[in-house]
Amino acid sequence: MIRFEHVNKRYPQRGEALKDLSLELAAGEMAFLTGHSGAGKSTLLKLIGLIERPSRGRILVDGRSLGDLPRRRIPYHRRGIGMIFQDHRLLNDRTVSENVALPLVVAGMARREVGRRVRAALDQVGLLALERAQPIALSAGEQQRVGIARAVVARPPIILADEPTGNLDPDLSSEIYALFERFHEVGVTLLIATHDQERVSRMAYRILRLHQGRLVADSGNW
Ligand code: ADP
Ligand code: ADP
Repeated sequence: MIRFEHVNKRYPQRGEALKDLSLELAAGEMAFLTGHSGAGKSTLLKLIGLIERPSRGRILVDGRSLGDLPRRRIPYHRRGIGMIFQDHRLLNDRTVSENVALPLVVAGMARREVGRRVRAALDQVGLLALERAQPIALSAGEQQRVGIARAVVARPPIILADEPTGNLDPDLSSEIYALFERFHEVGVTLLIATHDQERVSRMAYRILRLHQGRLVADSGNW
């Protein structure tokens, strides 16, 4: 599903954020990406989402090399990936429903279908009752679940999460990880960057560990 072949990423005026990185994530796999701050986790996720481009090497998603994607295909590629961030990036002048609807509205989906999909996504994260609320009125855990609903509303086959529970206490984090496991159960491919070493070792999934831009451990690489 996701394949990196000898990928380097260098930011201008900085060293290399990723060095000769090769890895493969199968369709339907759920994996954690760990490593200290600055190890390159966000960069790796951004490369998959085409928010950044590699300096060298090749990245394939669903068999297609991202470097060969014509510009007009990029929005389509991004719609196939649900991105979840630590700071969830919700719009505070819109309701919960409007926030979740955004990716579908941008994609030009018919209004009735948007409403149906938004309710389904909010139901999945247990927030249907709050559809008319403003994000600012919600708790941190609820806000993050709105962010997750928005990420999955277009039913992407891939979910990438960057420190999704960085601002949450352990109980709320557990709720978020339970949601991820449910997406995993229905066949979504998930890559989750996190500092939460304790949780990662408790949950029995593949762990990819980055150190200074290099992949230094891969528990799934037997
Ligand atoms: P992590 O997510 O593991 O904290 P990042 O991918 O954010 O790591 O960062 C890896 C390295 O790349 C760091 O040295 C960071 O400062 C650098 N970096 C990340 N994004 C940028 C950017 N947009 N411009 C320049 N340097 C960057
Ligand atoms: P994260 O933990 O998600 O990597 P950061 O605080 O490292 O968060 O980065 C926040 C934003 O700033 C990201 O979009 C990243 O690309 C950018 N960034 C990180 N390091 C640098 C840097 N050295 N120079 C410019 N932008 C950076």
